[in-house]
Amino acid sequence: MKRNRAGGDEGHERHGANLAALRDHNSEVLLGLLRDAAGNGASRAELARRTGLTPQAVSKITARLREAGLVTEAGRRASTGGKPATALRLVPEGAHAVGVRLDRAALTVILVDLAGTVVAERSVPLSFGAGAGTVLDVVAAEVAALPVTGRTVLGVGVAAPGPLDHRAGVLGQVTGFPQWDGFPLREALAERLSLPVVVDKDTNAAALGLLRGPHAHRADSFAYLHLGSGLGAGLVFDGAVHRGARTGAGEFGHQVLSLDGPECGCGRRGCLEALCLAAPGPAEAARLLGVGAANLVRLLDIDRVVLGGERVLADPRPYLAEVRAAVGEPVPVELTPSGPRTVAEGAAELVLAPVFGRG
Ligand SMILES: [Zn+2]
Repeated sequence: MKRNRAGGDEGHERHGANLAALRDHNSEVLLGLLRDAAGNGASRAELARRTGLTPQAVSKITARLREAGLVTEAGRRASTGGKPATALRLVPEGAHAVGVRLDRAALTVILVDLAGTVVAERSVPLSFGAGAGTVLDVVAAEVAALPVTGRTVLGVGVAAPGPLDHRAGVLGQVTGFPQWDGFPLREALAERLSLPVVVDKDTNAAALGLLRGPHAHRADSFAYLHLGSGLGAGLVFDGAVHRGARTGAGEFGHQVLSLDGPECGCGRRGCLEALCLAAPGPAEAARLLGVGAANLVRLLDIDRVVLGGERVLADPRPYLAEVRAAVGEPVPVELTPSGPRTVAEGAAELVLAPVFGRG
């Protein structure tokens, strides 16, 4: 990637510095409103009304955002009385973010625009157990292969298997992969890519993507249940991802359901994850997932359950039916609207959400 940018590095950094200067609260709030308004845009007067800022302040901030190429004037908005007001819109191609999904057996990297829309995607098999050196080499090569030349890339969001410390970007004792314990993934990758890097647990990233991303359903409170090579949950309460004190929340798969059940990779017996993975078919796995989902809904009074992960997406019908039956009215149970990209889109959202004041 460095090589690709040999000629454009200076321009890239200059633009990056401009963007950094825009990282103040009011700019973020205005950008957030324009992202929500999407194609309709919003007039300066509307933005002033909705933020409580003076029209002069809005004009000044939006002028800077236009200069940075993130906002444009496009068309007119009908206004009640007086002349029609000029509409301001977000420029999706004004900046981009990279989302990296590190799974136990595969790597997915995506490039998204400022609106969160996927512009490019690459996916390769990669064993998480291959060791840090190999994994970083492959991540760097795949990110470099994205069409980043000439584009302003704000940063790289990485969704990795937990447990991990999202503040420090340091991995913990990932079930089955003890060699990653204590590895400073954020620091190592930032140095390798020469870009800012944010790291979070895969299910937390997915939950953030479902809360803020391009397919957000605007629900304020929900649980995202992910059944793929493992089982975990991302929790959203009152419009914010709940990570817990040690980024440890959402270890949904390691609730013990059967005291003498099969051994789990975490060292305990009878965890929901171990039971689901050992189930003879989707019908049995779905029934178990339903029991766990109902426990969670009762414990936390969750508003909505969103299902995803490779195993669910391969055969969604039994999972939807069993979880709906177990959870019961009035809690809606739905499939993730982002499909197999849920975690990767969430990873990119780790970078985008703060730009809109919504980390
Ligand atoms: Zn376990």
